[in-house]
Amino acid sequence: MLIGCHLSIGKGFPAAIDEAESLAMNAMQIFSHNASSWRMKEMTTEIAGSFRKRLAHSSVEYVVIHTMYLLNLASPDDALYERSILALEEEIRRAGMLGIDQIVTHIGAHKGSGIDAGIRRVRAALDRALASDSASGHPNVRVLLEDTAGAGTTMGTSFSEIGAIIRGLDDPRRVGVCLDTCHAFAAGYELRTADGLAKTLDEFDSEIGLSRLELVHLNDSKFPLGSRRDRHAHIGSGEIGIDGISQVVNHPSLRDLPFILETPKEIDGKGGADRVNLARVRSLREEKEE
Ligand SMILES: [Zn+2]
Ligand SMILES: [Zn+2]
Repeated sequence: MLIGCHLSIGKGFPAAIDEAESLAMNAMQIFSHNASSWRMKEMTTEIAGSFRKRLAHSSVEYVVIHTMYLLNLASPDDALYERSILALEEEIRRAGMLGIDQIVTHIGAHKGSGIDAGIRRVRAALDRALASDSASGHPNVRVLLEDTAGAGTTMGTSFSEIGAIIRGLDDPRRVGVCLDTCHAFAAGYELRTADGLAKTLDEFDSEIGLSRLELVHLNDSKFPLGSRRDRHAHIGSGEIGIDGISQVVNHPSLRDLPFILETPKEIDGKGGADRVNLARVRSLREEKEE
């Protein structure tokens, strides 16, 4: 099973791999810079080279970069929109330099301009970023669109919206989807029962296509089904619960995908939560693998 957590690059890119290995992860997610700032520290060939070298000699098989939170590919504000497209291009370039084959991004919010206008804006942004020099210079890097919980005017709450964005792209081949279980559940997609999950994945398949699903963000949810509130909970301690998480990690359409946990880093007032959450997920899989 490909499994890991979102890890900090605060001590440098190679140190994130040290941390992944210390918890026996074979997959991991990182930011390529401070995710709450437009200012990106320059990615030098030295920094990228040291990461690639460390990665090649590690047990980590899958790495994904999560783009910064400020980016809004649906923004009706031209200045923010242009800045977001440049940021996406830069994330693609950084991923390519680091030898990372995928980035995952939130789509953004239409801010009142409406879903249809938002969809057109996002398509144009992706078309431009994917036609850019950064993208053509790093042809291996894929862009995964993440579903959202649906607070405010955020885009990507329904599978039909994500499907409409991808189908309208000039070249959809470099775009895939990341399913965040907390976000999907908060958006109203049932995951807790075999029937509920089957119905959710059927809808995903008809609106987007399961072949486009490349990554699962495995998070429990602090808030109930359809609450539209995005608060991640520890595995099995939220509203999805241990049975729901077990359905997800063992489902035939999902079980071979990489699972990245974005669960809180503290548990019972102490650190070490990643270890606890990873053990919970692994125990759910081991049962079925015997
Ligand atoms: Zn995300
Ligand atoms: Zn996520």
